[in-house]
Amino acid sequence: MINDREGRAIVLGGSMAGLFAARALSETFAEVVIVDRDELTGPNDLRRGLPQGHHLHGLLARGQQITEEYFPGITEEMRADGAQTGDVADDVRWIINGKRLVQVESGLVALTSGRPFLERHVRDRVLALDGVGVLENADILRLRTTEDGRTVTGVTVRKDGAEQVLDADLVVDATGRGSRTSVWLEELGYEAVPEEKHKIGLGYTTRYYRVPDEAFEGNISINTVASAGIPRGAICQKIDGGRAIVTAYGILGDHPPTDPEGFLGFIKSLAAPDIHEVLQVSEPLDDPVAYKFPTNLRRHYQRMTDFPAGLLVIGDAVCSFNPSYAQGMTVAAMGSLVLRRHVAASRRPDALAYFRDLATDAVDGCWEMAVGADLSFPEVEGERTEEVQQAHAFIAQVQEAATRDAAVARAYSRVIGLVDPPSVLHTPEIEAALAGPRN
Ligand SMILES: Cc1cc2nc3c(=O)[nH]c(=O)nc-3n(C[C@H](O)[C@H](O)[C@H](O)COP(=O)(O)OP(=O)(O)OC[C@H]3O[C@@H](n4cnc5c(N)ncnc54)[C@H](O)[C@@H]3O)c2cc1C
Repeated sequence: MINDREGRAIVLGGSMAGLFAARALSETFAEVVIVDRDELTGPNDLRRGLPQGHHLHGLLARGQQITEEYFPGITEEMRADGAQTGDVADDVRWIINGKRLVQVESGLVALTSGRPFLERHVRDRVLALDGVGVLENADILRLRTTEDGRTVTGVTVRKDGAEQVLDADLVVDATGRGSRTSVWLEELGYEAVPEEKHKIGLGYTTRYYRVPDEAFEGNISINTVASAGIPRGAICQKIDGGRAIVTAYGILGDHPPTDPEGFLGFIKSLAAPDIHEVLQVSEPLDDPVAYKFPTNLRRHYQRMTDFPAGLLVIGDAVCSFNPSYAQGMTVAAMGSLVLRRHVAASRRPDALAYFRDLATDAVDGCWEMAVGADLSFPEVEGERTEEVQQAHAFIAQVQEAATRDAAVARAYSRVIGLVDPPSVLHTPEIEAALAGPRN
């Protein structure tokens, strides 16, 4: 275990994965520099490098827990600044297959805000850490390595029209789905990073509203989840600024329209009328905006056999999931715990050992959950193995039981919040509830 903070780490990308990574690295490194091409600290929340930031961003309960552990008091700080808090199962109306789940206390915190608001609060806390700084408006151009390409020694960036070299003991790539690491590695003579893609053709459309408080009937969010029968969903959620965000989504080209009437029509076609009813009494604050997400994408770094020292990858650069399951930021936070553990043992950790732990401790479970859930839509291409079919049947049973049994609803909310493992759905109490209504 390293006790003294020494050396310099560079984090490529200052979005959520980069911020969590910087927090983790700050425990071991004397200096952590976050590099981003955007002006992160400027007044413009909707920066160019975060186009998804306009759309609903749910932080799962596990993500909230890690954020609070990293930055004690941040949940309350955000609440005081206008974010909403509640219980993920008691204060959120979940509607699955057109039916409401039982609302019951789960003991887990739902923290809702716009994505830029969340990022700003986390970033302020990260930049207040001793030794952490940011290099903004800087384009990351390429890695720097030793002559033999075996060790990464820094990066070259372009800032104010001039190239600049930043030396580092460790470089962590958090540049998101468009990460260039796989290309850079091939240029250095390494094998290609094995990639896995699943087409989902997801389309998001988002509009902001002013919603009268009573329309939420005590909830902070209403989530009408897409299901095999009606593969369209939407979430209407209270966020900062006294606003509500409504994000609707559909798969394989069945996208919510961006004209106001079409958008409302799409909301009306969902499996339950709840959100449409709320919008009848709400005032739109802008025009609907769309976002397209073609494929789930995973880069299996853990399957590589050779990798340079001094370089690690985290966040969407490793795995970018169907966003409707709201896993990305939480998986980035969970990944940063793996990073923290590995750099605590060595400032230049064994990259392949890190990637193996990242896979098992942060990514695998969510990837299987997301890709498996997508296959429950008959239109999505992919092999439905017997295992996948059994998982679908089991989850359908859990979701049905959660509409009538509080213990199942509680357990299910803790599993999808990534707090408890799926095995908690196999206890005798839950299995008895799945078998049928209690007398
Ligand atoms: C429509 C949509 C909705 C989503 N909803 C949710 C949700 O509800 N819950 C959830 O947890 N997740 C959600 N996600 C996923 C979430 O946005 C990401 O998981 C999260 O932002 C972490 O990503 P990241 O930090 O790895 O990468 P990104 O957020 O993509 O950030 C990459 C950063 O790197 C910078 N960068 C990239 N290339 C360069 C370069 N060459 N030079 C300099 N800087 C560079 C960019 O400016 C950016 O700041 C959603 C995603 C989408 C697309």
